[in-house]
Amino acid sequence: MTDFVEIVDVGPRDGLQSQSALLDIDTKLEFIECLIDAGVRRIEVASFVNPKRVPQMADVDELVSRLQKRKGVQYIGLVLNRRGFDRAVQSGIDQINCTTVASETFCQRNQGSSVDDMFRIIAEIVNEAQSAKQFVGVTIAASFGCPFEGEISPHRVARMARQFADLGVDEIALADTIGVAVPTDVGRLLDLVVPEVGKIPLRVHFHNTRSTGVANAFAAIQAGVRIIDASCGGVGGCPFAPGATGNVATEDILYMLERMGVETGISIEKIIATAKWLEGPLGAPVPAMVSRAGLFPPVAAA
Ligand code: MG
Repeated sequence: MTDFVEIVDVGPRDGLQSQSALLDIDTKLEFIECLIDAGVRRIEVASFVNPKRVPQMADVDELVSRLQKRKGVQYIGLVLNRRGFDRAVQSGIDQINCTTVASETFCQRNQGSSVDDMFRIIAEIVNEAQSAKQFVGVTIAASFGCPFEGEISPHRVARMARQFADLGVDEIALADTIGVAVPTDVGRLLDLVVPEVGKIPLRVHFHNTRSTGVANAFAAIQAGVRIIDASCGGVGGCPFAPGATGNVATEDILYMLERMGVETGISIEKIIATAKWLEGPLGAPVPAMVSRAGLFPPVAAA
């Protein structure tokens, strides 16, 4: 199998936003530089949200202004509303990712808007972004289940994906925000979504809350997806989703892909080293399995 899968490292955003340790800007920049050095080419670095609700993201305007421009490297910022979009544009971020939610209750709690209102807000943002030739993608959070409403109909998610595809967005991401999906859910949802989005690239975002993250990533690849979110060390969560834990770990995904013969352009050794380094600023061990267990075959001690 020769193939390429793009890993988007979401550690500096999703990874850090629910940590009790607040990292300063210099430490965040060092984290991002380590990821670039490891070969990561798309990094989610910011969420332009109310700093009172997410203090870990309070410094993102300055953070983005201090990012090094590097050839081939794209930085992504999340926006949840109009104000966030204006801040994102002002910051000069490379790629904008609008977020909505598949369930009404979670949408109200996470975004403070109904699903229909979010669609109208995103349609307006996408329109402006397109006029400015700005990359704009959309994430549908809680695509596989909602912490308040439970099961989410895959047909509902497919309809939403179709609406965003019709807007001509640059990418559509399906997020298992609370880590409830199993691989057959992933296959079933993608079977419905793929025909709805035409040539628009699909991206998937899994949390390893119930230990199904790597299996779900595999199912997504089998279904044709070639862009996968992961976070170095497997850190992460969602401040507004009860019980949500870490993103699927970049090194755990890389281990699987390397052994499958799939290219990513990323050094697993450097990601493990970055995860180990990150334990310092976070003051806690990272949850990634591969960072704990080590690589295989083992490298002989010098
Ligand atoms: Mg997430």
